[in-house]
Amino acid sequence: MAACGLPTIRICVHSVRRTAFCRTGIGTSAFMGRDSISPLVSANSVKRARHAYFAILTYHRITDDIDHCDFYDLPWHRFQRQMALLSAWASLSPLIELNFDDGTSDHLRVGELLFKERFQAKFFIVTDWIGRPGFLTRPQLRALLGFGHTLGSHTVTHARLTTLTDAPLRAELDRSKKLLEDLTGSPVTAFAAPGGYLNHRVTQIAYDCGYNTVRSMDWGYNNSFIPRRALKTVPIFSSTTDKKFEQILLGEAKFTNFHLKQLAKKMLGEDFYIRLRNRVGSWSRLP
Ligand SMILES: [Zn+2]
Repeated sequence: MAACGLPTIRICVHSVRRTAFCRTGIGTSAFMGRDSISPLVSANSVKRARHAYFAILTYHRITDDIDHCDFYDLPWHRFQRQMALLSAWASLSPLIELNFDDGTSDHLRVGELLFKERFQAKFFIVTDWIGRPGFLTRPQLRALLGFGHTLGSHTVTHARLTTLTDAPLRAELDRSKKLLEDLTGSPVTAFAAPGGYLNHRVTQIAYDCGYNTVRSMDWGYNNSFIPRRALKTVPIFSSTTDKKFEQILLGEAKFTNFHLKQLAKKMLGEDFYIRLRNRVGSWSRLP
């Protein structure tokens, strides 16, 4: 693709081709394996790669309805431009993984575009939402797999996991994993916590349930892979400008707002903070 007047540079670091942390090009090879491989292999691969860090970009709804963009929505034309920038900056940016949360129906179109651009992504699915109006159906999920993408669990009900006791928490993690595995016929090893509500207990139980990667909504780059710890992410918002996106790709993004809000959350307590956030409005939304 040539867009924004920039040449297309598409690089797949060979040593990480089969890891989850890679710009991908199908080229003469197939897409990366759908099965996640062991986190340690990923970590070693990342160390061998040219860049010392990797970034997980997390998207939500990609929409044509630019008049009704929510905080986490991104207009389609801007998403296309971001993918053009991603291609253009590939040789300079950190290793990138693309994530899409919630399994909304627009993600089929996203999956098709990424396939054409030779990118592979992970789509995190809330299994109770499959087939509901506005969400992907089972055939559409299979189509995403056909495009070479991977499915991960985003729980059964999009529950706030930190509020659950162990038994219902395990049910959210186990049942969603099994359903997606039945659907895909292959292991589902990636998990992303709804709303980023994670603590040490939830993270450890997720790993105990057989997931290899647990993604939080803590904003930041991953400088290394630490076994059984949650990965950080760089969420993309409706307010993410092209300039900001380039900074993200170059590993130069700052996450000051996030750290300030985390401090506020710690001082006010999570419940009070969430109530306050909901009253203040969407501008202050924090995972
Ligand atoms: Zn979600």
